[in-house]
Amino acid sequence: MNVREQLCYSDAYARTIEAHVDTVTDGDAGPVVVLDRTVFYPGGGGQPADRGTLLRASDGRTWTVRAARKAGGDIVHELDLADGGSPEVGDLVTIDLDWARRYALMRTHTALHALCGVVWRDYGAQVTGGNMEPGAGRMDFEFERMSGDLVAEIEARVNHEIASKRDVRVNVLPRDEAFAIPDLIRTKINLLPEGIPEVRTIEIVGLDLQADGGTHVANTSEVGGIRVTGYESKGRINKRIRLELLDPIAD
Ligand SMILES: [Zn+2]
Repeated sequence: MNVREQLCYSDAYARTIEAHVDTVTDGDAGPVVVLDRTVFYPGGGGQPADRGTLLRASDGRTWTVRAARKAGGDIVHELDLADGGSPEVGDLVTIDLDWARRYALMRTHTALHALCGVVWRDYGAQVTGGNMEPGAGRMDFEFERMSGDLVAEIEARVNHEIASKRDVRVNVLPRDEAFAIPDLIRTKINLLPEGIPEVRTIEIVGLDLQADGGTHVANTSEVGGIRVTGYESKGRINKRIRLELLDPIAD
């Protein structure tokens, strides 16, 4: 079997591409399609899967891609049953992301990493989980002494880091090299599956480094800013911070 290209991991800004249909199967809610290459993110690490469309070159028919997910190493595209029928194996199609949604998720994901970076660097608290939707997200920390005053301080520090226009880099490291980086240990890198030969990392240069599969903006200036919208205790030690994005101010 050919290796299928998964561009979301190497180029987060790739939003449309031509591809051929490799397999079509019937899912519960509509056809499920695998392409020889794709720009769709399949979801994971708290970042939801992309949505978009698939357009067939031969007759201009379009299908809505409701969601994508990983299955057996492939990224599969779930089409909307309501569109009727399905493309066929071998068809040439153009796939197009719902870019406004994806880009908002990229900004949100990078903002959450900036939050993790500040909370770890300045307060020594580890992240235990997180989730996001376009423009808003939450992170959970082992952070016993969190308070309202502290949260306001964290918000200001995160905004300072975002405004510092830090580059955001994607790296793929051999497993041994990744496991030798102390900063990666805190992000539960030891929970990664045994067999994987490489570890993908996201680095906000000078602030944060994490093993991560998601899509991010290339520079924190694209995030704009954040507002902390709430914080709550999930127990004596576990605390949750919620944030939403503020749009960048045009130069
Ligand atoms: Zn992440």
